[in-house]
Amino acid sequence: MKKIALLGSTGSIGQQTLDVIEKNPDLFSVEVLTANNNVGLLIEQALKFRPNVVVISNENKYHLVKDALKDEPVKVYAGCDAISQVVEMGSIDTVVTAMVGYSGLLPTIRAVKAGKQIALANKETLVVAGDLITRLAVENRSEILPIDSEHSAIFQCLIGEADDSVEKIILTCSGGPFHGKNREELEKVTVREALKHPNWDMGAKITIDSATLMNKGFEVIEAKWLFGVNPEQIEVVVHPQSIIHSMVRFCDGSIKAQLGLPDMRFPIQFALGYPFRIKNTLQRFNFADFSTFTFTTPDTKNFRNLALSFEALNKGGNLACVLNAANEVSVRAFLDEKISFLDIAKINEQVMEKIPFVKNPELNDYMETDKAARIYAEEMIRK
Ligand code: MG
Repeated sequence: MKKIALLGSTGSIGQQTLDVIEKNPDLFSVEVLTANNNVGLLIEQALKFRPNVVVISNENKYHLVKDALKDEPVKVYAGCDAISQVVEMGSIDTVVTAMVGYSGLLPTIRAVKAGKQIALANKETLVVAGDLITRLAVENRSEILPIDSEHSAIFQCLIGEADDSVEKIILTCSGGPFHGKNREELEKVTVREALKHPNWDMGAKITIDSATLMNKGFEVIEAKWLFGVNPEQIEVVVHPQSIIHSMVRFCDGSIKAQLGLPDMRFPIQFALGYPFRIKNTLQRFNFADFSTFTFTTPDTKNFRNLALSFEALNKGGNLACVLNAANEVSVRAFLDEKISFLDIAKINEQVMEKIPFVKNPELNDYMETDKAARIYAEEMIRK
């Protein structure tokens, strides 16, 4: 029985993780649930899964949660610090990091330092501080298992292979809802159009990141840290059907791919069950339903965010942290209809040019970088 702390339980990945846990009650139990704001769903989940601890990040909502659970044998805490503390609990085996954005960084660091197994869905953590996290993971023997579908695919392709046999990691990309559109067309796209992803049903932040290719850019950075490859060993290919979740080419030219229908419960279940595969009844892929797989090169001229990620990866230091912070602010502004779709990458690029470069950042540098980048991005948006 694996005891799980689920950070970000009310989001899309959080809910699908609980779905996997519910279907496998003899394998997994919920020890901790945390949420940012969604009190109603958090309470409902707590009553159903009966964790030992529940944390609501928004402290103003503490009493709502506390009152609703007052007759239950559950401890209720509030605030971001509480989330960082509960991940160290001795009773936890695996921490699933499914919160959005930079907020995942500190709790993940604490969980890694406590030697927990991490099922990583919060890719921003590795984007911001991949160097620090992977170093700490080795020091504290904390195993990091990817939940992101592309990285789960790569992880599965690498099982049984020698580290030095990898020639290239080939990340597939759906292209998002605007693949093939030119600059004039992209200038006019609306929030509503950007929120409609062709294949995956996800939260708002990641759906916009998919439309701008920022998500793919972050996945390139995530792949570098998870699999210890160089930027030149990572390639992105647009595969609009989203059936091949990613591939690895080996030193003998042979390529392995992992395939399946786009349903996040597959990679979530693989990470939770690893090293074992668990039977399920999820819908199976059928080749007869997909007569054509297509592949093209991504358009990094109109979708600048992907190029910015490679730049951040090549220069290293705190640059990816800058990009992440700028992007969180610019995506928020786009969702609030304060800036246009193309402005997102424009602002990200300007912030990357402005914030001072730190070559070998430690945790404090990352925190200061994040703050400075957000302030500058906000200034750009007001202009
Ligand atoms: Mg992904």
